[in-house]
Parts: sequence; C-alpha cells; structure tokens
Amino acid sequence: MDSSSSSSSSSSASFNSFLIRIRASANSFLSQFEPLALLFAPLLTLLVARVLESFLSVIHEKGLKATLLGFFMSSIKLVPGVKSYIDAEKQKVVDKLQSGSKSNREHWRMELPTTGLGVGVIEEMKDEKGKDADWQGKCSGTVYIGGNESEGHFSLINEACSMFAHTNPLHLDVFQSVARFEAEVVAMTAALLSSKEKASGGEVCGNMTSGGTESILLAVKTSRDYMKMKKGITRPEMIIAESAHSAYDKAAQYFNIKLHRVPVNKEFQADVKAIAQYINRNTILIVGSAPGFPHGIIDPIEELGKLGYRYGICLHVDLCLGGFVLPFARKLGYPIPSFDFTIMGVTSMSVDVHKYGLAPKGTSVVLYRNHDIRKHQFVAVTEWSGGLYVSPTIAGSRPGGLIAGAWAAMMSLGQEGYLENTRKIMEVSKMIQKGIKEIPELFIIGKPDMTIVAIGSAVLDIFEVNDIMSRKGWHLNALQRPNR
Ligand SMILES: *Cc1c(COP(=O)(O)O)cnc(C)c1O
Repeated sequence: MDSSSSSSSSSSASFNSFLIRIRASANSFLSQFEPLALLFAPLLTLLVARVLESFLSVIHEKGLKATLLGFFMSSIKLVPGVKSYIDAEKQKVVDKLQSGSKSNREHWRMELPTTGLGVGVIEEMKDEKGKDADWQGKCSGTVYIGGNESEGHFSLINEACSMFAHTNPLHLDVFQSVARFEAEVVAMTAALLSSKEKASGGEVCGNMTSGGTESILLAVKTSRDYMKMKKGITRPEMIIAESAHSAYDKAAQYFNIKLHRVPVNKEFQADVKAIAQYINRNTILIVGSAPGFPHGIIDPIEELGKLGYRYGICLHVDLCLGGFVLPFARKLGYPIPSFDFTIMGVTSMSVDVHKYGLAPKGTSVVLYRNHDIRKHQFVAVTEWSGGLYVSPTIAGSRPGGLIAGAWAAMMSLGQEGYLENTRKIMEVSKMIQKGIKEIPELFIIGKPDMTIVAIGSAVLDIFEVNDIMSRKGWHLNALQRPNR
C-alpha cells in the first residue's frame, strides 16, 4: 500500500464523518417542522417561482410600462361597474360591426320573398346603391379607379368580369381561359418587380388571391412551413414594424405565430436595429412595407434584406399599395429606394391588383422568390373520398370573373397606361403636400415616398380636422397616435 492511497483513504474517512455530522444536524433542525409542512414547502416555492418566471417573461416581452399598464387595467376592472361599462362599450362596437345601426336594420329582409322579384330586383338594387356615400375622387384608400362608374375603365372591367362570372379556376381542365389569365397576371406583375432580372434568380412564381390580406396570410403561412422544413422551427415568431398592416396580426392569430410589433424610427420607417434585437432561433419572418399604409413611407428594404439573409429567415415585402406605382414612379424619375426581388433576402411579396392595378375588388398577387418556398403554400389532400384534392390558395372554388377582370385591367392599360396614371397621381400628391405645407397649423408626417400623405397637427385636434373634412365629403383614414 503506498502512501498516497493511505492519505486519500484517511481524507475520505474524514469527509464521510463530515457528511454524517451535516446529516444529523439537518435532521435535528427539520424535526421541529411537521412532515406535511416539509412536503408542501418545496411545492409552494416551485409555484411562486413559476409565477415569478412568467411575470418576468411578460415584462421582458412587453416592457415594464406595458406590463404595469396591463396590470392596472385588469385591476381597474375589479372595481364594481367598470368591467360592465367596458364590456358594454365593446359590445356596441361589435354590434355595429355585425349589422350596422338598428334603425337601418328594421326594414332589412330576414327571409326569402315568397314570390321572387324577377328582373325587378335590379330596380331595388339601384335604389340601395343611391344610398352609398359618394366615393368618387374624395375617398382615401377605398376605391382606386378614377372616373365615372358607368363608363371608361369601369365598364370595361364590368364587362370582362361578367363574361367570366360563372367560371371556377378550381377546375383548370374546364376553364383553360382563366388558367391562362391567372398565369399571365402573375407573370406580368412579377415582371414589374424584377422577376426578369438576373439578381432575382429567375424563378419568381406566385398565385392570385382575393386581396392583400389573403396574399399576406398565405405568405406568412408559407414562410412558417418553409422555416419548419429548413430549420425545424416549431414555435414560430415574426417581427413587424408598428406601421405594418393589421393583416399580419390576423395571420399571427390564425396560424399560431408569436408576433412582435416594433416601434418605427424617427423617419416613421421600420427600425432595422430594433427589429434585429427581437431575432432569436424561433424567428421565421420579418416584414418591410413599400410603402406602409399609415404614412406612405417605404421601409429600408435593402437593410432588412441583409438582416434576413444573415440570419437565414424570410423577408416579406408588402407591396400591396406600392406594387403598381413604384416601378412606374421610378421610370418617371422619382427617387425611389430599392424594394424588389433584386434585393438578396426578399423571399415573398404581396401586390394588390385591386388597388393601383385598377382591377376589380378581390384581386391580389402573392409572389415567392422560387418554387422551393412556394410549394409550402399548397394543400394537397390524398385521402378524401372526393378524390385527389389540390388547392393553391385559401378558397376552394374561386371567382374566375375577378381573375378575368384583373387581366382585362392590366392588358387594357399596358405599361403606358400605368405610367400615365402614376404620373397623374404623383403630381396630385405633390400638390396636396404643397397645399398642406402652406397651412401653418398642419404638418406632413415624415417624407412620403409615393402618393399617400399623412397629416398631423401640433396645435389642432387632427381628428376634428378629419370630421370637418368628412362634412365636406372627404373620406380620409384616421390613424392611431398620428403625432407621436
Ligand atoms: C391594403 C393593404 C393591405 C391589405 O389589403 P386588403 O386588400 O385590404 O386585404 C396590406 N398591406 C398594405 C400596405 C395595404 O396597403
């Protein structure tokens, strides 16, 4: 036996006796407590730790101010009467959304007429139409086609739509005409957004949808599934600017994605640094708008592209408003920053044909950089008794008439038509901006890049200005916190 092992065995013996002493004193200390208390104390500690942990994570997520505010709002609801007041106010809004005001509803029909009205139905509809607000020319962000509804571009669209009103592109073999229209609307839209430039990769593809919201829903869903395949992300998160459209909230709610809304920078653009801080290993998607609906300002798409590329996440560019204006404004010489597929990192886009594309309502295009991404948009069901079912978008049967209407709008206008339209609306926008600058009480929010102009005031209640404009027949869009 050598000396080193004998010293180690003697030190291990002293360590053992030390343990025995600790154990004895711990047991004698604990013997003063009831066994039941000993059982519950750790459980209770665990519970408190869990509550604290979730509280801290809420603070981390929402910030201290919002958390305390949320806490304050929920405690104030405990005061008798406050909760029922808030609920009643909420109910009012819901009621209004559901059916308009009650007095209107009184003569609304609740069941089918026993004897049909036949062609007389058209007369009744004309009467109803007469009650709508006069939206031509004085209505912001609602209908984008100018001129008289019964002639020119309007009547051309109507004729195209009605010619194909009964087609259904779900059945491509039957309606090859509509299949061609859809493919061409997508290709022509993509070409405006650099699909034919080498830097785009030459594989840009997409589908027609029912509007900007559906395009966005699909792009978000596709990004989610693409990132699940690429990185195994199962608890997806996305990051958007405060100015990004509410459709992203809808997508987050529908598709179970955690959403971070990040304040804009001083120029009212997406704040790239702030967005970067929210990126983690669950991030699937960031979004840039070109331009955003509230202020008409283009986000720094190139910088967002670098960010997306660096982290290997998706970047959606929201061109719902800009898709049919920016490419032409650039041709006209306006200083327009980059926004299309020539930017590395852009994975998808939404472009509304039913806005400045001057197509009928219910038409938009969703585009992807390549087929590898887009394939995650499709749903294929192989087990259905109804047979093999493949559908590219959210709707099953789709209105072929609208696709035909969009094709008619684009083909009838051509590049020159859109160029001329863009020239006119850009000039009107500059004129409006000039006029606002001459009113000392008003200011323009940020530097508008396109045709949308947001107005604020430091001295007037801007919502009152909006009310006065309404009385003069102008329907403007009221923003939330316009002056912040
Ligand atoms: C209009 C718009 C949308 C949503 O489009 P809908 O056609 O109303 O569904 C989304 N993003 C931006 C920037 C828009 O202007």
